[in-house]
Amino acid sequence: MNYKKMNSIFEETNFIMKKYNIKANKSLGQNFLISEDVIDGIVDSADIDGEDLIIEIGPGLGTLTKRLLEKAGKVICVELDEKMIKILRDRFAFYNNLEILNQDILKTNLKQIIKDEKNTGKIKRAKVVANLPYYITTPIIMKLLEEELDLESITVMIQKEVADRLIAIPGEKNTGAITYTVYYYAKSEKIMEVPNSSFIPEPEVTSEVIRLNIRKEPPVNVNDINLMFKVIKNAFMQRRKTLLNSLFNTKIFKSKNQGMEVLKNIGLKENVRAEELSLEKFAELTEVLLQLNEE
Ligand code: SAM
Repeated sequence: MNYKKMNSIFEETNFIMKKYNIKANKSLGQNFLISEDVIDGIVDSADIDGEDLIIEIGPGLGTLTKRLLEKAGKVICVELDEKMIKILRDRFAFYNNLEILNQDILKTNLKQIIKDEKNTGKIKRAKVVANLPYYITTPIIMKLLEEELDLESITVMIQKEVADRLIAIPGEKNTGAITYTVYYYAKSEKIMEVPNSSFIPEPEVTSEVIRLNIRKEPPVNVNDINLMFKVIKNAFMQRRKTLLNSLFNTKIFKSKNQGMEVLKNIGLKENVRAEELSLEKFAELTEVLLQLNEE
């Protein structure tokens, strides 16, 4: 059967699943895309050209991969499920710009991969594009950001609920500790909401495509980033408590008096809550703590 002659992704997906006797594996977050419009939306917003390396996480049956291969200089797919690897190898046997890695993305050395590809001289930029396995959305996003990879952008489909939290503005509504991490490393934008009917099988949650544009310079300068993120994580651990209590209970503040002093020093009320703080305020708070620790 010639895949190119099939005009419906739905039919194509069913055909491949039947041919290879595939049942979507729920525990691997397998929900296969069947909407042409959504695939167009992802590919267009990723803004891909012949000098780009695209890292695709979880290519599955290769529906998105096919479109990426037509535009990118090179596509490197990282897929955990061996069954998918066989399909991808058969399907894209004639493409010379594809590399398929049968690995867990969380254990993949992306830094080295990007470095090696850039060293060839053919690749100018590296971008991540993926319909992510939802059961590990947060660890994947944290890995992509915290490893400070040489990436230009990350365009991913994830659960809407998580997406909204990731791309919220610190200090505004619907934030969590991860909002600050994303904001520190990237400027984010919502691309589109995606209904459940765009996949087989249908996921239980609504999805959303977001794009994170990696910043060249961080929005705040802090002498100890690890301490700042430790403060933020501890501040959000007990959301209902005041910032003062959260940071005292988690031993960031040595005493309530010290905490009150720090908050006063940076112009915050004693009863302020974590979600009211901008990233800049957390940076200021970290600097005051660093000074105190030096004394
Ligand atoms: N890209 C395909 C599509 O859009 O139709 C499939 C997306 S599906 C939501 C997620 C894919 O991630 C599955 O193919 C699954 O096997 C794969 N996956 C799950 N855990 C993974 C991991 N730890 N590392 C790499 N791939 C993983």
